[in-house]
Amino acid sequence: YVYLNSLFQTFFFSLLHLSWKVLSSITHCPMFCPLQPTTKLFIDGKFVESKTTEWIDIHNPATNEVVGRVPKATASEMEAAVASCKKAFWNWSETSVLSRQQIFLRYQQLIKDNLKEISKLITFEQGKTLADAEGDVFRGLQVVEHACSVTSLILGETMPSITKDMDTYTYRLPLGVCAGIAPFNFPAMIPLWMFPMAMVCGNTFLMKPSERVPGALMFLAKLFQDAGAPDGTLNIIHGQHEAVNFICDHPDIRAISFVGSNQAGEYIYERGSRNGKRVQANMGAKNHGVVMPDANKENTLNQLVGAAFGAAGQRCMALSTAVLVGEAQKWLPELVERAKNLRVNAGDQPGADLGPLISPQAKERVCHLIEKGVKEGASLLLDGRNIKVKGYENGNFVGPTILANVKPNMTCYKEEIFGPVLVVLEADTLDDAIEMVNNNPYGNGTAIFTTNGATARKYSHLVDVGQVGVNVPIPVPLPMFSFTGSRASFRGDTNFYGKQGVQFYTQLKTIISQWKEEDATVTKPAVVMPTMGN
Ligand code: NAD
Repeated sequence: YVYLNSLFQTFFFSLLHLSWKVLSSITHCPMFCPLQPTTKLFIDGKFVESKTTEWIDIHNPATNEVVGRVPKATASEMEAAVASCKKAFWNWSETSVLSRQQIFLRYQQLIKDNLKEISKLITFEQGKTLADAEGDVFRGLQVVEHACSVTSLILGETMPSITKDMDTYTYRLPLGVCAGIAPFNFPAMIPLWMFPMAMVCGNTFLMKPSERVPGALMFLAKLFQDAGAPDGTLNIIHGQHEAVNFICDHPDIRAISFVGSNQAGEYIYERGSRNGKRVQANMGAKNHGVVMPDANKENTLNQLVGAAFGAAGQRCMALSTAVLVGEAQKWLPELVERAKNLRVNAGDQPGADLGPLISPQAKERVCHLIEKGVKEGASLLLDGRNIKVKGYENGNFVGPTILANVKPNMTCYKEEIFGPVLVVLEADTLDDAIEMVNNNPYGNGTAIFTTNGATARKYSHLVDVGQVGVNVPIPVPLPMFSFTGSRASFRGDTNFYGKQGVQFYTQLKTIISQWKEEDATVTKPAVVMPTMGN
């Protein structure tokens, strides 16, 4: 009887679960997905359920199953979030720098303690491998650690005695309420580029994560609260275009940090700037790896393959374009062999080198660009379009793909592919390679592989790209420097993090004071009884 009873119960609950799933897939209505977690808003120190009627599904890219949902925050919820930031600003900006620093010192420890848990969430929602997800959190953590050096970063300048009895000094002060809009590809690192630097300088912050990967930021917000961040100093809203427009237009928001595509970034830069805000926008890329024939072949090929296909090419600093110079063109077959050896699997599976793309639409777009490359005359030396991953047949997987004989006028070269596709071009000389890179509109990152110091110096000096690696395939600077993408990869005047990050989130106040020597207090002891009368 007990056996039959438990069998019946198992059957009954499986049937119930299945019917929820069928209903939710038919209707796409969140009402029918009670088994899936709902992302909260973070307003005034509380994680609250949105009252919206509009929700966006979150999918696990390895299976395409719906694993959660995120609200499109209502206008009044977004207003409440900004009002909370505004209310918290006065106290927070007047909180001593040392107290703010203490919160960030506790915060960095909490992130370290929870690094593995945050990484699992990233893999679950974004698809990248667990090792890569840990790197995502770690690079963000480094910015938090850097924010802890605020006491020296935020110093003003002084010049005593600019004239008789007159001194000039500057204070570096916070702006007020700042906002951040983040992309899907680094769910932890990029939000951590934004609010810690802004907040340690005394600003309060409104974050809008990518609607596809909100989980890591929500976890990070809870840890920030646990570290002692006062209510209202950080608020989080969710949504898409309406939330973005709200941020661009709200009169109480003074500055916007954006990272994402050119389409969104240029729009946000223009709309935000028109409304008198400071805007910094890090955008798309086409990063060239120039391979000289004198390079260390073994290292170069390994680095190229890792940097082109790691994270399934969904990094703004992915080395998506190889330029083989002279004799290095003969290395192409070996490059293909190494790429073939990479293991494509769900990000949480042991040994996975690259995971799936973020969505079926992203996969379709990448496949379309590969096909277009072939039509326009490129040679498809390795084709990852039809890859099947056992146990994950519904995932958005594309295997490593190599297009050779690519010419600068081809669509696969002109557009950012943002997938595991390496396009290979040829150049006769270093000068030809430099000209090619400089003619490309993007200026995010580039690398040169050579054993000749003079070649490396010439390339770094003449190439018009914001971040250059010499035998370093992905030259993302540590946070004591700034992320210095340039040309079409960046809009704004001051870059993210480092000294420039502090400049972006602060304004200077200059004080010129005169204290005449003859007015100095007489220091003779007063021995006469004070009368207080006059
Ligand atoms: P995305 O532009 O689609 O989305 C980024 C953010 O903008 C999201 O929060 C989204 O909700 C919002 N958004 C999207 N489309 C919008 C629109 N039309 N109008 C207003 N807001 C919009 O970018 P993504 O697909 O999430 O991220 C990938 C892109 O980000 C790639 O182009 C990549 O190169 C770029 N990226 C750049 C850097 C860098 O530092 N240069 C770093 C990471 C990613």
